[in-house]
Amino acid sequence: MKKNKAMRMASALLVATLLTTSVISGVFAKYTTKAEGNDTARVAKWGVVAKLEGSLFGPEYADAAGGNTVDTSGKTISVSSKMGRDSSDAGYGENLVAPGTKSKDGAFTCTVTGTPEVAGVIDIKAKGKNISLAKGTYARMTFVGKITKDEYDAGGEYYYDYKRDNDPNKEKAGYRKATSWEASKEYYQAEEICTLDTDYYPVVFNLSSTSNTVSSDSLAAIIGQLNTAASFAPGDTLDTKVPQISWEWKFCNSSPACGGYSTETGSGASACVYCIADTILGDVMAGHDPYIYTSGTNTDGGGPYYPMASNKSITNLSLDINMAVRQVD
Ligand SMILES: [Zn+2]
Repeated sequence: MKKNKAMRMASALLVATLLTTSVISGVFAKYTTKAEGNDTARVAKWGVVAKLEGSLFGPEYADAAGGNTVDTSGKTISVSSKMGRDSSDAGYGENLVAPGTKSKDGAFTCTVTGTPEVAGVIDIKAKGKNISLAKGTYARMTFVGKITKDEYDAGGEYYYDYKRDNDPNKEKAGYRKATSWEASKEYYQAEEICTLDTDYYPVVFNLSSTSNTVSSDSLAAIIGQLNTAASFAPGDTLDTKVPQISWEWKFCNSSPACGGYSTETGSGASACVYCIADTILGDVMAGHDPYIYTSGTNTDGGGPYYPMASNKSITNLSLDINMAVRQVD
């Protein structure tokens, strides 16, 4: 029996763009079949259907009904980019993520189904960018002015503006930590000090069976896994070839949770480094620039701190997935 030599199997192609638009999907199929001689042959079945459906992100996450079960001091999380704004405002209705939000189970499905009679591969081309804050020490610098020696001795981290106090012509001198009290000096106090030993990625992505953490770029990791083609043999049932993607930005990324935002209840707990980092990211996103940063090198026992540069944080998240299923020889 003669085989079909020139059988061309087409592929199912589709593209999904997350965060920016809704998922676009479609299936394209083209067959070219040539048969010679007297023997008969039928075209091998393809019948592969590939789908990227739903959305990983949304404009609002309304407590448990929105897939969030975070409960802090009796309050459930509610996040919305539509709150208190006019629909004509920039940013209204945009997809967003925030501490305490996560993907809904099954909100985004990536499936390939069918039982083709030929061998093939599922090729996924994914790319994206995760939210992050670079390692280093951050602080919010508050101006307090002149203080008494008693106040200085009582503790706290006092800094002075090196440029203003020592060399007005020097560019970018930064804040230096005070090593002794001086009556004439005007001081700043460093608060919300936050030292990240590694780059921080608060939104943790996982494929079905992975378990990533905030100390490495989980989005880059799953993109690496997605970009590994999965092959199938004739007769394979393709229902389980594509792993499911999920994400979560925990309300507190420490374990156990720090409870740092329950101070209103009088517990007096202080926020952990991750909760302070989350606040920094939120402030940067809001266009506030109250933070200063140091790489850790210092000349006076702390600092110098400089205004936080824009390359220290990424506050936009994107994930694009292209999936193609094709026959191989
Ligand atoms: Zn915390």
